[in-house]
This record gives sequence, C-alpha cells and structure tokens, in this order.
Amino acid sequence: MYYPDEIIEEVRLNSDVVDIIGSYVHITRKGGSHFGLCPFHHEKTPSFSVSKDKQMYYCFGCGAGGNVFSFVMAYENYTFVEAVKYLADKAHIDLPEPEVSAQVRAAMNYKSRLYEVNKLAARYFYMMLRKEYGQVALRYIEGREISSDIMKQFGLGYSTQFRDDLYKHLKAKGYSDKELFDGGVLLEDKRKQGTYYDRFFNRLMFPIFDVHSRVIAFGGRVLGDGQPKYLNSPETQLFNKSRNLYGLNIARKSREKFMILVEGYMDVIALHQAGFDNSIASLGTAFTGGHGHLIKRYVDEIIISFDSDSAGVNASLRAIPILKSAGLIVRVLVMNDAKDPDDLIKLKGRDSYEQLIKQAMPSFMFEVLQLSKRYDLKDPEYKTRFSEEVAKKLLAIEGKLERDNYTEAIIKDFNMSREGLMELLGKYGKNIGIVQKKHINADLNREEKRLKQREDAVTIAQKEFLAIIVSHKQIFNKVNKIITPDYFNHETLQKVGLIIYDMYKKDLEIEPTVVMSKFTQIDDQKLIAGIFGEEIKIENQLQLEKLLNDTIRSIKSNYLEARQKTVTDPIGLMELIKEKKELLHLYVSLEDIDRRD
Ligand SMILES: [Zn+2]
Repeated sequence: MYYPDEIIEEVRLNSDVVDIIGSYVHITRKGGSHFGLCPFHHEKTPSFSVSKDKQMYYCFGCGAGGNVFSFVMAYENYTFVEAVKYLADKAHIDLPEPEVSAQVRAAMNYKSRLYEVNKLAARYFYMMLRKEYGQVALRYIEGREISSDIMKQFGLGYSTQFRDDLYKHLKAKGYSDKELFDGGVLLEDKRKQGTYYDRFFNRLMFPIFDVHSRVIAFGGRVLGDGQPKYLNSPETQLFNKSRNLYGLNIARKSREKFMILVEGYMDVIALHQAGFDNSIASLGTAFTGGHGHLIKRYVDEIIISFDSDSAGVNASLRAIPILKSAGLIVRVLVMNDAKDPDDLIKLKGRDSYEQLIKQAMPSFMFEVLQLSKRYDLKDPEYKTRFSEEVAKKLLAIEGKLERDNYTEAIIKDFNMSREGLMELLGKYGKNIGIVQKKHINADLNREEKRLKQREDAVTIAQKEFLAIIVSHKQIFNKVNKIITPDYFNHETLQKVGLIIYDMYKKDLEIEPTVVMSKFTQIDDQKLIAGIFGEEIKIENQLQLEKLLNDTIRSIKSNYLEARQKTVTDPIGLMELIKEKKELLHLYVSLEDIDRRD
C-alpha cells in the first residue's frame, strides 16, 4: 500500500517539523535552530536539534535524525504509511483510498466494527465504575491506593452484576450478536445455542490496549471470592495474546532504555503510578518468543520483576531463555522483603525499588543462584556436583570474555576454588569438543570481521562521496562521469546516489528532506540524515581533494573487483585490466574550483 510521491510531498510541506516535534518535545529557539532534550535517549542538557530551514532533526548525543516522517515513525513506532496517514490527518489532507479488493474492504470494515465494540464496551465499563453499582469496585481501587489520574490513564472500569447489561447496551447501538461475540465481549449459552450473555460481570475491568492505544480486549478481576480471580477476553481477530503486552502502549514511549516485566495488571499500574512508565506484563498467558520479539522492537534490555515466591522464580527461569533468544539483555530484580513490586513500593517507597533496579542481577547469575539452592553447599560432595553443573553452564556461553567475567563472579560469590573450577572447565570443554570448536569459531570470526571491516570501509567511502557531492555542485560536475551510482554496492546508498544524480541533472536544488521522503524505512532515513548531517570537517582544499580521491579509489576498485568475479570473456577482462590501470593514475584536482560554492 503506497501513496504517490506528490501526495507524500504535500503532506510533508504541510507538516512543519518544528511544529510537529514541538508538540511532542519541549524545544526552544537558539540561533537558527531549535533545541531540546532528546526523546530518544536520556540526557540532562539538550543536544537534540530541529532545523526549520532543513526541515530535519538531529541529535548530537545519540545520532537519531531524519525528517518529519522519521520523527513520527520513531516516536510513535509507526510504519511509513501510518506516519503519512497520521500527519495527513493532522494537516487535514485527504489521502486517496488505497486500492483494495471488495473482499479485503469488507474484512477491514468488519474489523473496524470489532474495534468499535471494544471501545464502546470500555466506555460503558468506565461509566459504570462511576455509578452507584460501581461503588464496590471503586472501594477496591481506593484500597489499592490507585490515583484517579492513573485510573483514567488505564481506563479502569466496572462490569455490573447483571449478566445482560453490556449486551443490551451494545445491541441498542446496532451491533449484531455475531459482532459482539466475535469482539470477545459475549459468551454463548451452551444449553441454548444462539443465546448470548455478558462474558464479564461483577468484575473490575482492565481494558487491554494495542500499541496504538486501541482497546482490543479486557482483563477482569473478580470482586469478592468468585473464580477465576482474573478472566481475560478470548483471542479474537483483534487480540492475539502473544503479540500484545499490557502497558506497552505507554511503555514504548518511555525514555528508559529498558523495560520492566512484571506478572500482572496491578503491578503494571502500581509501577506506572510510581513513575516507572516502562513497565509491562504479559496477558495472563505464558511468556512466548512473540513477546520477546515485540519487546526487542523497542528496547535492548529487559528486567524481570516477578513475584518473589517460588512460582515467580520458576516463571523467571522459564522466561529468561525466551527473552535471551530474542536478543535481549536480561536481568532479574530480586526482592527479599516483599511479595511483588506493588507491595514493595507501598512498604518501602519508590526509591528502594529504583535501587533494586540498579542492582538487578544478570540473568546468568540469577540462574546460577537458583541452581545453588538445590545443593547443600556446606557438604563437599554437593559442592562438587554444583561446581560441575556451573562449569557446564559456563561452557555454554559463547563469548570468551563474557565467560571469563562470569567465571570470576562465580568464584567470588560462591566462594569456589579457582583451580577446581578451571580444571572442570578444561575437562568438560575438551569432552564436549567446545575447546576445539571455539578455535575454529575464532578463526571464522576473524575472517568475517576482516570482510566486514572492508565492507564498512567501502560503505563509508560511498557515504562520504555522496556527502561531498551534495554540498559541492561544482565537484559533482567534475566527477559524475568517473563515479556513477552503478558503482555503489550499498543498496540504499545507490538509490540515494541515483536520486541525487537525477536532481542535479534536472538542475534542482538538493533538499535533504525531499530525498529522505522517498525512503520508508527508518534505518534508511537515519543513514541519509547522516549523509546530509555530516559536516565534512575539511580545513583546506587539499584535504577535501585527498578525501574525494580516496573515496573514488575505494568505490571504484571495489566495483572492479566485484566485476572481476563475474567477467569471463577475454575482451571483458582486457577492459577490466585497462580500467584498473587507469584507476592507478586517476587523480581529480580541485584547484580550479571555487570553494565557496
Ligand atoms: Zn538523542
């Protein structure tokens, strides 16, 4: 689904970068730019700049940068199309309907009816909480010391004790039984097919939001002694338990570089109230790889903060490998004096929870700690067995540095004999072939690294070349026959090159943000921001000349080498040799160029 370039350009022209960013971040004018605290990393002094002239933003602290589309994509975690829609809406621009079949359209319409059902249900529950029937729920909330602001933010509500209350309310609004059932708010009477009643009654209601803050389901906590204590909506077209996390719609906008994973709704709410707006919980279901990947979209690190009882410890142990395999750094927060985060904050205050976050254990050490509890370490025989288990665990760590660090930490924390542990590491390492395998891996890594470094150097050369030509049209005129974008091996940079060459040939002014609007991926936009943002720190003409020639040589020789691998006919090879020779003698002089162009 794409929009024509003209439309995208119209949206961009009507979305001033200073206005849009200013509505999210407090920025103040300083000289020709606006400055503020970067929303993408933690900082105390502003290094986030927004330029009205260039219609771009750039952070000198973390390198985040781009145009108005990139900002909305990064901040709201939108796709390009979503960002265009969002900005078009703000600017009151009508977007053309994307081409879809009648069938797809019908499905989309049905889905939007289901969203409405959930939204209206949430509103109804919210209202009921404030009516006389809702007093019982309100008293419970007050007992848990939840502020009215947080109640509002999380949209807490109440389902009354009548089993057809919501059903009647929504039927009166014109929704069919099927829509209400598919939306997840009804149950079918098993004895009387085709008869429905409310799924939730006499419960405190927690609306479940997707990342765009649309209500997609509910969790309900029983008031009184009923069972089950917590009841969730079933999976529906809108609600997939392993693709959603409670609190994520808020946590994804947090400035923290990590998230806190807790067990339940009330923990999330209590932590948000205490200012930990990066807290999330899985939705009454086991933790899955889907959850792990979802979290990884927003942060690199997760702190598990489950209940301190044995169920919580076991759940942590199960979650660790899942989260790690999603590529997350995992730490575990250990609480000794409270049963859950809510409890701890009430007993000891938010600062002591903050302290525990800082002290959270690397997941590996947590696993070893739990392992140690299975052995009586005062008994030499058990201690040996424990050491054996630890050695095996250590050997499973891929990186040597990491393994060495943990080995040291374990020797210290568990008062182990260094010699003994080293001996075990050597013994098991050899037995399972790890020692040998590691060597092979190391060699492979070295080769990979070498290749990667070279690749990086060529990529940098391509970026620098582009940076030079966008800022010096005269240089472009001199070199555009020597290097063409065909020589680029980096896909995005090649596209950028083609656009710039084309614009120059049409005698157009090169505007960074226009170039950027042609790219829909945030990584690409960041790369392009880097090209334009790069003030080539050149003190004199000679330096610029040297850099230009270095980049030309690097790009061209890489291109020729790549061609050498595919060319087989004698004439082609002769050509190649000739070009290589020419490259040796190629030198572009900038003597005749006026540097102030
Ligand atoms: Zn930043």
